[in-house]
Amino acid sequence: MDIATTHIDTDLLIGGAFEPGAGDAETVLNPRTGAVILDVAEATTAQVDRAVAAARKAFETWGRTTPAERSAVLHRIADRIEAEAGAFAALEALNCGKPINAVTNDEMPGIVDCFRFFAGAVRCQHGAVAGEYLAGHTSMIRRDPVGVVASIAPWNYPLMMMAWKLAPAIGAGNTVVFKPSEMTPLTALKLARILADVLPEGVVNIVSGKGPTVGNHLVTHPAVDMISLTGDVGTGKKMLQAASGTVKRTHLELGGKAPVIVFDDADLAAVVEGLRAFSFYNAGQDCTAACRVYAGPKIYDNLVADLTAAAASIALGLEDDTANEIGPLISARQMDRVAGFVDRARGLNHVEVTTGGGPLGQGFYYRPTVVAGARQEDEIVRREVFGPVVTVTPFSDVDEAVHWANDSDYGLASSVWTRDLGRGMATAARLRYGATWVNTHFMLVSEMPHGGLKQSGYGKDLSLYALEDYTVVRHVMVKHA
Ligand code: NAD
Repeated sequence: MDIATTHIDTDLLIGGAFEPGAGDAETVLNPRTGAVILDVAEATTAQVDRAVAAARKAFETWGRTTPAERSAVLHRIADRIEAEAGAFAALEALNCGKPINAVTNDEMPGIVDCFRFFAGAVRCQHGAVAGEYLAGHTSMIRRDPVGVVASIAPWNYPLMMMAWKLAPAIGAGNTVVFKPSEMTPLTALKLARILADVLPEGVVNIVSGKGPTVGNHLVTHPAVDMISLTGDVGTGKKMLQAASGTVKRTHLELGGKAPVIVFDDADLAAVVEGLRAFSFYNAGQDCTAACRVYAGPKIYDNLVADLTAAAASIALGLEDDTANEIGPLISARQMDRVAGFVDRARGLNHVEVTTGGGPLGQGFYYRPTVVAGARQEDEIVRREVFGPVVTVTPFSDVDEAVHWANDSDYGLASSVWTRDLGRGMATAARLRYGATWVNTHFMLVSEMPHGGLKQSGYGKDLSLYALEDYTVVRHVMVKHA
């Protein structure tokens, strides 16, 4: 990675102007090595206040632009990101430790497409019919922007989460104060340069810094109308408390612990190939990761054996980054957390760690790990590990599989693997998850919603449903005479 740190943007964007954070320095690390990339100074409360005031002021005019005007701006953002996709990918790979090919080939096209999708979608919203529901009066429904949105993003897909939050929010006519994760602010601060060129001042403001300081001040700010968080369940609960002060609207995308039901009649090779990709992608730091496998009694042994071999074959930590399939975890803390889960599971008599089960010995890498024989009540089956760790648990019949799959605080993503499409459909209908894939997992498209139920939160990213979430329904009634 040959990005000179002198060319990395570190300034905040407040009301159309760039300025350094005036708060404490936050050290940004390279997860491949643990070395310091650079420091980014966080925003002070006064800077957050100015960012919110700028967003408030900009809302007066941005909220009254036409969909066509906002669409044109979203297209310009997409085009500019696409033109600099290589530089964005290199910076994201540096900050997160992601393999460059994964960012270039998977994330960047999705990010650009997200802005293009919402550029189209904002011009195509439909509503209820207007009519005379009271004689002599015409009623109509409006969908108007909410106002100033505080957007708070996690570290696992920094630029993609930013796209998912910004595109529908500003597309719908809101203005935004955006806070990236303090561990991964670099692509957000680079995108700020494009946003400042393309958008009127104050429509998007970017303040970086830690959750308890910058984030907390932002989400408790009385001039903020809505909080949009992608993050941990615990953080989501704090957002609900913060929102209660002035009854802010909330949009929460929280954790996950995706169940994967593999029936005996599934195509074993396809399941193994799928799990090799969908369980370990982004080193498992993915809220939809296929991490909690329930396997039928006849396929269980072969699945454990083949998945073990497949996981052991995943390339990571190689000097030639183009050969790497996954990267390290984001931090030493996250690596220790993942190791703690696996070590405690290993201590159980009924559990066997069939591959991986330890760090790689450089940076924050953890080996792809398969934990066989884990039981429903085990911590490693119940809690989100957020690392390259998959459990495999045998089930005896479909009711047990569905019961265990649903027996979770989380409700984001799930999948069912079977050659019998009827069985796949019937099982999908019984799962209480925001998404269920049949014979695949993890695949997202801009047209379809992403979001959870239960403690995985509510609020949809992507799709027309996101536009609904970032707008309020209003009734206007006109008396004829
Ligand atoms: P996190 O909750 O620790 O942090 C998320 C963001 O919230 C960060 O920007 C952080 O600074 C901020 N924050 C933390 N405390 C805050 C506070 N008191 N006030 C305001 N802001 C605060 O989450 P993370 O570790 O960055 O991300 C991993 C989590 O995100 C996992 O649980 C994962 O499942 C979840 N996630 C969910 C989705 C989804 O779509 N549902 C997508 C990606 C990640």
